[in-house]
Amino acid sequence: MKKIVECRNLYKNYYQGKIEVPVLKNINFVMEEGDYTAIIGPSGSGKSTLMNLIGCLDKATSGSLLIDEREVGSLTENELADLRLEKIGFVFQNFQLLGGQTALENVELPLTYADVSRKIRRERAEQALARVGLTDRMDFLPNQLSGGQKQRVAIARALVNNPRIVLADEPTGALDSHSGAQVMDLFEELNAEGVTVLMITHDQGIAGRARNRVEIRDGELGRVEED
Ligand code: ADP
Ligand code: MG
Repeated sequence: MKKIVECRNLYKNYYQGKIEVPVLKNINFVMEEGDYTAIIGPSGSGKSTLMNLIGCLDKATSGSLLIDEREVGSLTENELADLRLEKIGFVFQNFQLLGGQTALENVELPLTYADVSRKIRRERAEQALARVGLTDRMDFLPNQLSGGQKQRVAIARALVNNPRIVLADEPTGALDSHSGAQVMDLFEELNAEGVTVLMITHDQGIAGRARNRVEIRDGELGRVEED
């Protein structure tokens, strides 16, 4: 299978004042196309930092990251933006929807950066919202939606570009267990359709639903012992 994500000896340091603080240490990690992997680790262990690197939202201090067999470190900002737009969908714990825009407008947003006509934009956003079961909520504002519905809108937004990879950072962290289970069902369906899913969580139960599990502790990855 094709490697769609590959981290080689990846390091990320942050600066606190003048002091350099290592956050990710020698990360080596591969996902093949179609994988469904959970990275599990306690708060502060570096999960979001790793997700932001893999999502090309931030740059590593050293090491190599390949997305779909392309070295990300050598890409320009524009090339990175294109890569994100074409290949990657993001889902965040706190949804990150625009409050003044309807569900439909939020889902259309990524397409406004792509070269897509208004009509096609609307059609694709409607399809994505239908995909997550929200056809009857398209014209609602985020504050008129439940947490679970907001996260489904965010998933529709992540899907509207037909990404090859979906990155989800604690996607059920703000949800009750029923809504969380619905969100997890959606990720499983997407994965069954061939989308590569990387989920980050500190919840063992949620991680248990992924097909592979990797643990992160103090910025270092390790395999989870399976029983
Ligand atoms: P997690 O998502 O696992 O809770 P993070 O990746 O958000 O952890 O953070 C890992 C560590 O990096 C934490 O100690 C955090 O304080 C630190 N950190 C995260 N972002 C920054 C930043 N922008 N500047 C400095 N330190 C940061
Ligand atoms: Mg985090």
